[in-house]
Amino acid sequence: MTNTKADATVVHCSLGLPGQIDAFEFARRGRTQAGVFSVHRLQRLLDGLEDQPSVELVELNDAPEAPGLVRYVLVGQLNASGRPQLVLRVQTKLLLECQRCLGPMMLSIDRQTAFDLVRREADLGEESFDEDSIDEPEKLVGSRQFDVLDLIEDELILEVPYVPRHEQCTDMAETESDDSEDDVGEARPSPFAVLEQLKSKR
Ligand SMILES: [Zn+2]
Repeated sequence: MTNTKADATVVHCSLGLPGQIDAFEFARRGRTQAGVFSVHRLQRLLDGLEDQPSVELVELNDAPEAPGLVRYVLVGQLNASGRPQLVLRVQTKLLLECQRCLGPMMLSIDRQTAFDLVRREADLGEESFDEDSIDEPEKLVGSRQFDVLDLIEDELILEVPYVPRHEQCTDMAETESDDSEDDVGEARPSPFAVLEQLKSKR
C-alpha cells in the first residue's frame, strides 16, 4: 500500500548533481530537492585544498559521514511577507591540512542559509542593518535557470577557514616547548611517526 501523499514531507534524496531550477517557481510551489554527490565535482572548492578522498556511494544513509561526499537539501517556500525564498542546507566533510602541525584535519560542515530571492542585482543593495537583521535571510538573485550546484559550492567555500588549525594539535604539547626547529631542507616527519616516538619513550 502506497500513501505518497501522506509522505509528502519526507525528502527523497537522489544521487547525483543538482540541475538548474526556475528559482521563483521552485519557491512559489514549495518544492524540495535533495541529493548526494561527490565533492570532486566542485572544482572551485577543491582548488588549493588537499586531495579529497574518493568514495563510491553505496548507501545514501552513509552520506555525509563518509568524507568525499556532499549532501544537500534545497527547500522552496514563501517567507513571512510572501516573498519567494530558498533555504539551502549543505553538509560535507573536508580534509584539510592543519597550518600549525601540518597534520591532516577533518572539517565537518553543516551549513544552512535562507535566501530571499530578488529579480535583479540592483535589488541586492537594500540590506538593512537593524540590530535584529543578523538573522535575516541573505538576498540572492534568482533566475529561471538558476544553478543550484553553484550556490552549494559558494556556501561550502565560505566554510573553509583561511588558516585551518586543529583546536588542539595532537603532537604539539611536546614539541612546542623545545625550539629545535631543524626542519631546514629536511623532510618533515609524519605526525604518525612522531606519535610512535612519543609512545616508545614511555
Ligand atoms: Zn594541528
